[in-house]
Amino acid sequence: GSTIGILGGGQLGRMLSVAAARLGFKTCIFEPSGDCPASHVANFHLQAGYDDTAALERFARSCDVLTFEFENIPTTALDTLQAIRPIHPGRMALATAQDRLAEKTFLQGLGLTTAPFADVTDAGTLDAAIATIGTPAILKTRRMGYDGKGQIRITDPAQAAAAWDAMAGQPAILEGFVDFTHEVSVIAARGLDGAVACFDPGQNVHRDGILHTTTVPATLTPTQRTDAILIAARILNALDYVGVLGVELFVTPNALIVNEIAPRVHNSGHWTQAGCAIDQFEQHIRAIAGWPLGDGSRHSNVTMENLIGADMDRVPQIAATNASLHLYGKPEARPGRKTGHVNRVTGPAA
Ligand code: ATP
Ligand code: MG
Ligand code: MG
Repeated sequence: GSTIGILGGGQLGRMLSVAAARLGFKTCIFEPSGDCPASHVANFHLQAGYDDTAALERFARSCDVLTFEFENIPTTALDTLQAIRPIHPGRMALATAQDRLAEKTFLQGLGLTTAPFADVTDAGTLDAAIATIGTPAILKTRRMGYDGKGQIRITDPAQAAAAWDAMAGQPAILEGFVDFTHEVSVIAARGLDGAVACFDPGQNVHRDGILHTTTVPATLTPTQRTDAILIAARILNALDYVGVLGVELFVTPNALIVNEIAPRVHNSGHWTQAGCAIDQFEQHIRAIAGWPLGDGSRHSNVTMENLIGADMDRVPQIAATNASLHLYGKPEARPGRKTGHVNRVTGPAA
């Protein structure tokens, strides 16, 4: 059988490995740290850093097709890999999604609505950006941010200097604050043949900047639901994308505003494990392996809850209910660390 190479060894890599195994593939994980969630279930674990060209080449040669479960892989590593084996999604998707300035510029170029934004390179450009965009606004690092890390809210122009100092010289963008009613996301897939399939949008609730729950169906009018899916499809096609993509949207009375895209399976798509015949992990494996996309239509209403930090203490109680539990085998539960999730089916889809 053929081997799928996955860059990144977290829970997403773990669940991708399980899905790949069900379809008869072997998996090889490339991950710098040793005891990682994916290494417990993958067939092989190549433990090396993304700057280790020889290790990257060995990894690529030992696999038939490559993918990644996190977007902060240096594009130089991707160049090394793609010279040896196909990697999906491709370089353009990765480069666009790992830099908030490139991402928002790309989205606006497609005619989609984003928060107003400006490039911030120093204290002076931040002052100018605040003058244009106004307050409240959010200063975000261009790269490496996740779970709300690397973000500072600015409610008064007088806070600008301190906010820029906190960026510690990292390039940033300033975003206008969007007064949304709620947040939704579309988990979308595109096959090697260009076929597109989107899962039903889910409604997301964050707590302390971290995704807490995703619920399907989301509160959306039929028009909004269609528009959300069309937005995701437009992004997939523009990136010539292969695999699963997460698109986060803010819902306002007048518009759907694109917050960010994730070029991978997405935490807000975990509900598909309980709500669809083919979940996001299998859909991603099918896409990158050149298989036809599977049936992702939703048969059930579901709420997904993340287990974070001390939530692990509730596992015995949850295990005694008819919820489905997914635990990531992380060595220790730290505050803010995602250690598992629970899918609760709340009824058949209408
Ligand atoms: P993720 O873990 O989803 O990758 P992230 O660290 O990349 O998160 P964002 O998605 O940009 O961060 O922001 C996290 C959350 O902060 C959003 O889901 C939203 O609740 C809030 N937020 C971000 N940007 C804005 C904005 N411009 N206006 C209002 N709220 C915002
Ligand atoms: Mg993000
Ligand atoms: Mg986000």
